[in-house]
Amino acid sequence: MSSVGPSGGPSAVARGAEAVVGAIIEVVDRRYRRTGPFAKRGDRRTAYRRHEDRAAHATLGFSTRACAILAADASPEATLASLLALIAGVAGARRAAVVLPGDERVVAVAVGAGEDPGQATDLAAWLDAATDRPRSERATSPAARVVVVALQQGRTGIGSGVPPRPARIAIPLGDHEAPVVGLDLRSSRAAARAGERLPEILREQAAGFLLLSVRVADAARQRARDAAADVERSRFASTVAHELRTPLTGLGGYLDLLLADPSGDPAIRAEFLERSRRIVDSMTELVNDLLEVSRIEAGSIELTDGPVPLADVLAAVREQVEPVAAATDVSLQIHQPSRLRVANGDRRAIERIAVNLVGNAVKYAEPGGRVEVDVALDGPVVLLAVRDSGSGIAPEDQPRIFERFSRLDRHRATPGTGLGLPIARDLARLMGGEIGLASVPGTGSSFVLALPGPTRPDPGAVAAALERAVAAEDERLDGPHP
Ligand code: ADP
Repeated sequence: MSSVGPSGGPSAVARGAEAVVGAIIEVVDRRYRRTGPFAKRGDRRTAYRRHEDRAAHATLGFSTRACAILAADASPEATLASLLALIAGVAGARRAAVVLPGDERVVAVAVGAGEDPGQATDLAAWLDAATDRPRSERATSPAARVVVVALQQGRTGIGSGVPPRPARIAIPLGDHEAPVVGLDLRSSRAAARAGERLPEILREQAAGFLLLSVRVADAARQRARDAAADVERSRFASTVAHELRTPLTGLGGYLDLLLADPSGDPAIRAEFLERSRRIVDSMTELVNDLLEVSRIEAGSIELTDGPVPLADVLAAVREQVEPVAAATDVSLQIHQPSRLRVANGDRRAIERIAVNLVGNAVKYAEPGGRVEVDVALDGPVVLLAVRDSGSGIAPEDQPRIFERFSRLDRHRATPGTGLGLPIARDLARLMGGEIGLASVPGTGSSFVLALPGPTRPDPGAVAAALERAVAAEDERLDGPHP
């Protein structure tokens, strides 16, 4: 094996594969010596031994090639595709698929370059239906996730083109926990022979190699996730430090000025103290938002799960946001919904989301602008739309404003933490809801919160209702009277 790890020595996969192939060669070799050409001629019951020899040869050949595939350090998908092509080749099949057991039922199937993936997904769907599962399991996850893995070179098995009388066969590679292989064959005769061509010992080997490749892929995915989380954590820490340093520098400056001239002009001293007060307020807001982010991240936020009348939520919003709207000359129209408009979730969290959306609409509206809040039902889903006549958000900025600390350049002078929308979206999702946005630059924006109603619709229904609502808001903004 020539695969080399990052430190210059053989990679862990290559070392593991070498150990596996060593053990296999030993087992097969022992068998081969007992029954192969080195066994005493008189001891041999020829026909039986020939069959055994063939099985041992086939297994040894299979294992050697499977080890070479694993040691090649290709991508997890390419490794799985090559193993499936190898199994198909050994079984005399045109293509192989496999049901992989685990928390999530997955059917993987290989497809070669230039091949029609439709044939591959057909085999995968057939195999999913052909392999038995307890009824309870079928009820919770009706169909397996199909993963089509691409072969980097070569064919997915033996032969090509449309066979005259195609046949399919499912072969378990061990007990009920083991993977099950599905084969596409040229004829029912080939299907009958496929079982013989995959003797028990080879099936065990195939199961081992398939599971090993899946485990290596899982480990690689986990490593990539951990690395991304590390990068995100350090980026977050440095952004927090930066966000705190800026107001602290300002605060330090005012304190220095006050200390340097203790008997200065009382009006100027009062002004400096007032500015310091505002800085402390904005830092308190930032720290509170950071605490909320960390509670959400740590999963320690406790949300209740009960009926929340939107009328109560909007009464609280009015109380908090109306004074700001009045002070900035923004007209705030909250269409008070009937008490029958009830969402299912946590009152404090829903209030926080609504205050953030309406507060933003007022904060970023031009003086003299208009903000309108409406509640509607779409089947079992409750929708809260917050429309403003602000300057709108360009399409490329729309996903960005839901990222932590992300603020539009033109709003940097307006006080804010850049954490309100990401917190709002996280809270909505924790309650089975979602936030969508329709916006037309120069015309205004409409943020829509979708929440499950008391009948607790499934996530698909919430997503579909939000999509319809955002499309309607888009049309409204585009129309002659936004
Ligand atoms: P904050 O308002 O504290 O900056 P948010 O996460 O609530 O943080 O919002 C992020 C950014 O999204 C804001 O800084 C602003 O640039 C933009 N934004 C949010 N709501 C609106 C709105 N209604 N109209 C225009 N821009 C908005």
